[in-house]
Amino acid sequence: MKNTKIFSLISGCLFLLVVFFNITVFPTAVGAENVSERKESQTIDPDLSQKYNLIEKLKDEINYHNYLYYVKNKPEISDAEYDKLFKKLKELEEKYPQFITPDSPTQRIGSVPSKGFKQTKHKYPLFSLDKVNSFEDLKKWYTKIRKTFSEKKVEFVCELKIDGLAVALFYEDALLKNGATRGDGFTGEDVTQNIKTIKSIPLRLLPPDQNISKDLHVCGEVFMPIHSFEQLKEFANPRNAASGSLRHHDPKITAQRNLDAFFYRVENLKISEKPVKTHWESLGVLQKLGFKINPYNRLCQNISEILEYCSYWEKNKAKLTYTIDGIVIKVNDYNQQKALGHTSRFPLWAIAYKFPDQPFLSTLLDVQFTIGRTGKITPVAIIEPIEIDGSIISRVNLHNLNRIKELDLRLGDKLFIKKAGNIIPEIIQVKYNERKPNAPKIEYTDYEISSKALLKAKLKHWAGRDCMNIEGMGGSLVDKLVDNDLVKDPADLYTLAKEDILSLEGISNKSAANIIHAIQESKNRPLNQLINALSIDQVGKETSKILSRHFSSINQLATADYNKLIAIKGIGKKTAQNIIDYFKDPDKVLLMEKLKKYGVVAS
Ligand code: NAD
Repeated sequence: MKNTKIFSLISGCLFLLVVFFNITVFPTAVGAENVSERKESQTIDPDLSQKYNLIEKLKDEINYHNYLYYVKNKPEISDAEYDKLFKKLKELEEKYPQFITPDSPTQRIGSVPSKGFKQTKHKYPLFSLDKVNSFEDLKKWYTKIRKTFSEKKVEFVCELKIDGLAVALFYEDALLKNGATRGDGFTGEDVTQNIKTIKSIPLRLLPPDQNISKDLHVCGEVFMPIHSFEQLKEFANPRNAASGSLRHHDPKITAQRNLDAFFYRVENLKISEKPVKTHWESLGVLQKLGFKINPYNRLCQNISEILEYCSYWEKNKAKLTYTIDGIVIKVNDYNQQKALGHTSRFPLWAIAYKFPDQPFLSTLLDVQFTIGRTGKITPVAIIEPIEIDGSIISRVNLHNLNRIKELDLRLGDKLFIKKAGNIIPEIIQVKYNERKPNAPKIEYTDYEISSKALLKAKLKHWAGRDCMNIEGMGGSLVDKLVDNDLVKDPADLYTLAKEDILSLEGISNKSAANIIHAIQESKNRPLNQLINALSIDQVGKETSKILSRHFSSINQLATADYNKLIAIKGIGKKTAQNIIDYFKDPDKVLLMEKLKKYGVVAS
């Protein structure tokens, strides 16, 4: 695909700058090691440029999924797929540390807090957790900790890893003062009003029977019980549901979502001015103060007790009324925790044992396609019904047409299915070696054609006189660009090179140059034309003019809330909702990011 070529070219240039001039394109390269070692590896490895491109591509991809997951609560890929991408990036960065940048997802926790909320700096950072997927790796972690303290006793607290989102609460003089989400670990979103709607969270601490400080910083996990999640039918998994509900702009809606919370950390707890020495003791104190502490927490003395706890919950997790995705094991003694310290992302005194995926076998019977309001086509695999964790699964969302291509599905295929986040079924593997000869392919060409037709219509509108007014970009050129996969959305127009246009049939050198010039020149259109170009439902030429009189940029329009929009004369309820929906749609979020990157929309 030509776009990839352009991307490679740009990335290649950047790469050359980094390698040959040894200049810091990235302000502070993380993990900057010995320069001579670096140069040596650069001259030896002929694939370096390719590796650089791959790292950049993975970073973009992971950042995009982080945004969908943490900010929009609408992941497009499964956690297993995400974990695979993350692992790949981590491995590459370990091999090529000169390409690690501070904005790499491996160097950050979560995602940047959403602008919709007031931001709040955490007094104590909220870290993520390092993870292992096998008992073997868990044992290695344990042995390392044991060795650090040689003969000294080390105790561990095992806790269920609740599938929700972390929150930090501050109590002043025993009263709940404020509550915030984890955000990027250092700055979170102020969700105090929403936190107050969760009935199990104390607004005032219970009077303690000991002399405990009334100013407390506590941390816990807000989650949505399974039955509430199933009723809601709006989110991909309970974790996204909890996050979307706690971060709703209307606390009244949050209050209806039946959220709950377990608490698992308190900072600098003192009783009669003396610091509490262990995590286990602190949990007991938190319970007395009125916090909900998970009843299945367990103090373990050795690895066999830890493994026993993990095995038990791996087998019995379905008995819980909320979802867990693993076990968190923490060193109990605070002095030992302090001695172990932390990295920029996670503490070294804790680890999450993530339950391994348990695939179930089924057969592909059919693939059905649904077309959404915006023209988006979603394929769904119909499978031989199977029972997973007590529920019967017969439909598996394939998300997009590419997924069918990636999996190369045929009718009658034997498939491994698992429940992502313990809830949503997904296909994780196809048993190609068991495929029958002549197994029929899945026909999706018609849908591909209609999604291309939709894109062509959008691009023609984009280039039209009342929109971006791109001279020379007529219907036949748009058709060729789409048919040759040169453009997947309007933003891609701005990455086209003259050579791309010349590669199309019947275009002269001069007109190719004119078209590129016209595309670049269209970046200067007034706001009303830009709004019109976006193809928002019910927002045409006249409505775009009205909106452009009330907003000074696309950014302002994108962040306007419903009430602000309907207050504008000439904007009805339906149009307001269409505008909100448009800028919330993950495809449009990506489009906006690209338009900003290419200088079409002001950032
Ligand atoms: P994590 O959620 O796997 O682990 C850290 C978190 O565990 C803590 O922040 C806390 O909120 C939670 N937790 C629950 N119980 C706890 C307890 N008892 N003690 C301490 N903490 C507890 O890590 P993360 O960095 O928040 O998220 C990374 C994971 O999220 C990935 O591995 C992936 O599975 C998923 N993810 C998926 C996508 C996607 O597109 N599907 C995108 C981003 C992240």
